[in-house]
Amino acid sequence: MKAYKGLLLIFLTMGSSVFLWYFATPIAPIHPLSKLGHIIGGLAITGLFLVFLFATKNKLLERWFNGLARLYFYHKVLAIFSLGFIIIHGQLQKMVPDEELPQTSLHEWAKELGELAQYGFIILIVLAFLAKFLKYEHWRWLHRLLLLPYTVGIYHTYFSSQYDLLQPSAIAIFTALTTTIGFMSALYMMTMYQDMFFPYSGSISNIQKLNSHVIELELTLTKKLHYRPGQFLFIKIFQEGIEKAPHPFSISGGDGEKIIVTIKTVGDFTRQVYDHIQMNTPVAVDGPFGHFNFDKGANQQLWIAAGIGITPFLAYLQTKPEKKIDLYYSFHGLDNIVYKDFLQNYAQTNDHFTVTFIDTTQEDRLSFDHLTIPKQTSIYICGPEKMIKQFKSSAPTSKIEWEGFIFR
Ligand SMILES: Cc1cc2nc3c(=O)[nH]c(=O)nc-3n(C[C@H](O)[C@H](O)[C@H](O)COP(=O)(O)OP(=O)(O)OC[C@H]3O[C@@H](n4cnc5c(N)ncnc54)[C@H](O)[C@@H]3O)c2cc1C
Repeated sequence: MKAYKGLLLIFLTMGSSVFLWYFATPIAPIHPLSKLGHIIGGLAITGLFLVFLFATKNKLLERWFNGLARLYFYHKVLAIFSLGFIIIHGQLQKMVPDEELPQTSLHEWAKELGELAQYGFIILIVLAFLAKFLKYEHWRWLHRLLLLPYTVGIYHTYFSSQYDLLQPSAIAIFTALTTTIGFMSALYMMTMYQDMFFPYSGSISNIQKLNSHVIELELTLTKKLHYRPGQFLFIKIFQEGIEKAPHPFSISGGDGEKIIVTIKTVGDFTRQVYDHIQMNTPVAVDGPFGHFNFDKGANQQLWIAAGIGITPFLAYLQTKPEKKIDLYYSFHGLDNIVYKDFLQNYAQTNDHFTVTFIDTTQEDRLSFDHLTIPKQTSIYICGPEKMIKQFKSSAPTSKIEWEGFIFR
């Protein structure tokens, strides 16, 4: 499903920015290059407003973009465009004849700061795109620093502009609204989200090690969390020796008062959980997030899971769905399969459910070429990013939903 409402929001906001800057009246007549520079600068600061707004994981935005993963995708796309606009804006301002440039010391100071903000953005956004080479926690800290150039950028917008943004006008209202919301969003995400706004609390009420690197945790919450099977949560664990930052995990079962998550060790946090988690440890939960909606899908469904990507599907199977479901579960060696017995038993006792196991150490990787897919089939995929990309690019239908276990 496409993110039509989300895309409309982007086009309307960016379009309004161009329109309002184009028709705004400057304090004194300005050079056409300066006017263009202001329009492009306006696009940069408006783009950054959306970048920070999208980072808040707002539920309405998540719906409009049809999932957090897509919302983060557009967050990144807008960050690239905004950076491009910042650079072009800087170059255009350099080309404006000297007599057209701001003369007061406040203007000069704001101009200097604008240049500083530009370098700050270039360094931090480039680093953000090098995420895969950085530890997640380090990346997150660098990401938080973006608040600094953004704050300076807002100051630059107000005080180096050839337009009076402090007098009531359409462009002044638009700029005030977008910069205030953008700044509050950035402040919230970068300083408050981690410590506040986790509406559910509870504790670990059961622990089961499924193999040498996968652990199943049951959380008992103090109030019921209403979720749709297929969704995920951000979980914080408060135990000495376990990192406090929230991490996302799909719900693999539970009635909402009890929640099951199944965690594979891949790095520091998951290793600490596997090795040290104790009964009754307090937890905090934010969510649910995620756009998988098996109930809304066609009666004929094809599920493709890889490794720990089986988790969102498990929660739905526990509702004993009536739909005709064919699950293809791919894993790299027997050490990387979980819930095999459960899936086999389920298939034996439910004739509208089939499961095919694919051990990629023994067989070729699954692709759509191997499958006969009836018309009107809804396809759901969950697994590593690479696998999702491959399936998405060769999908025989538009009824395809996916959840990658990565976003940053
Ligand atoms: C929507 C979604 C659902 C997921 N469901 C499951 C699940 O059911 N079971 C499971 O085992 N894993 C799941 N994951 C993956 C899980 O979140 C990561 O494996 C875990 O956070 C890794 O943390 P780490 O410190 O052990 O490893 P690291 O080596 O630090 O991280 C490995 C990767 O996990 C991601 N990651 C790390 N920390 C965070 C964080 N705080 N917030 C967001 N992403 C982070 C990053 O992309 C990173 O590259 C899910 C991820 C997402 C996005």
